[in-house]
Amino acid sequence: SKSKGRGTFHYFEASMNAAAQQRLLLENALRMAIEQEEFQLYYQPKAFCADGGLCGAEALIRWRRPGIGMMPPDAFIGIAEETGLIVPLGKWILKTACLQAKVWAGGRAGFRVAINLSPRQLLAEDFIAVLDDILSRTGVEPGWIELEITESLVMHDVDKATDLLRQIRRRGIHVAMDDFGTGYSSLSYLKLLPIQTLKIDRSFIKAYAGDPASNEAAFIKTIVSLGQILGITVVAEGVENQFQLALLQSCGCHVYQGYYLAPPLSADEFQCAWIDR
Ligand code: C2E
Ligand code: CA
Ligand code: CA
Ligand code: CA
Repeated sequence: SKSKGRGTFHYFEASMNAAAQQRLLLENALRMAIEQEEFQLYYQPKAFCADGGLCGAEALIRWRRPGIGMMPPDAFIGIAEETGLIVPLGKWILKTACLQAKVWAGGRAGFRVAINLSPRQLLAEDFIAVLDDILSRTGVEPGWIELEITESLVMHDVDKATDLLRQIRRRGIHVAMDDFGTGYSSLSYLKLLPIQTLKIDRSFIKAYAGDPASNEAAFIKTIVSLGQILGITVVAEGVENQFQLALLQSCGCHVYQGYYLAPPLSADEFQCAWIDR
């Protein structure tokens, strides 16, 4: 009946409001958290597949909410991106990771700290100016950092993305394509873009159950040989066990990252376990 329908509509509206309110609360909390620096960068080590030697770390953000606890990035990066708060937050991430790179990469040849960038952050009008400012104020060598981008950046505007990446490369900063294999046009972008590294998405590694003759193994081997043909470094992420590492070693994958090596660690933990040892 009509009244029943209206009731359903009101219920729907009420739940929409609840969701919108929830978002607004999170947005406000995020805004305050940026001012009060409630964030912390964790660092996950990366090692050469061939000999296990340390070759860098990926910076991964954590939000420690007073009274609530640790919020994983997937719970707030999307909202930060939609509201534009990723711009101030991204500056903090970049600055903090550059200062850390100075401590760890200075004097350690080939060691780089990888930093994740959201499309909105990169496409901001002043991104290159912000980057230059952070480079000069922190005194980090451009070769000590690497910027991880995703295909979604490229899908916004290929020409603009290509131009931006060229400017980044010209400064001597490495660029990595993250989550490779999950998008739609990975191959064509790969040919176009000035990138030095591709990271095989962890879903491909997770799917590999240990049979080297399986399709899942073939996917991984194909991506690795693609990198070899194009002359770019291949990093496998989400490596959780010995047989996944063994496959990567057998096909000549360069670098791996994952719980099998180590989980993301606080800067202090990373320092103790990987730098001072
Ligand atoms: P991502 O860039 O693909 O980062 C890798 C994610 O895999 C991290 O999740 C990491 O903790 C997790 N991981 C590492 N090893 C393993 C493993 O062996 N098994 C499994 N199952 N997972 C593993 P995390 O830290 O929760 O980050 C999730 C996503 O949030 C990141 O995915 C990235 O897209 C985004 N993110 C994290 N930090 C930042 C940041 O500083 N800026 C931006 N823009 N995005 C960030
Ligand atoms: Ca990443
Ligand atoms: Ca990834
Ligand atoms: Ca991701």
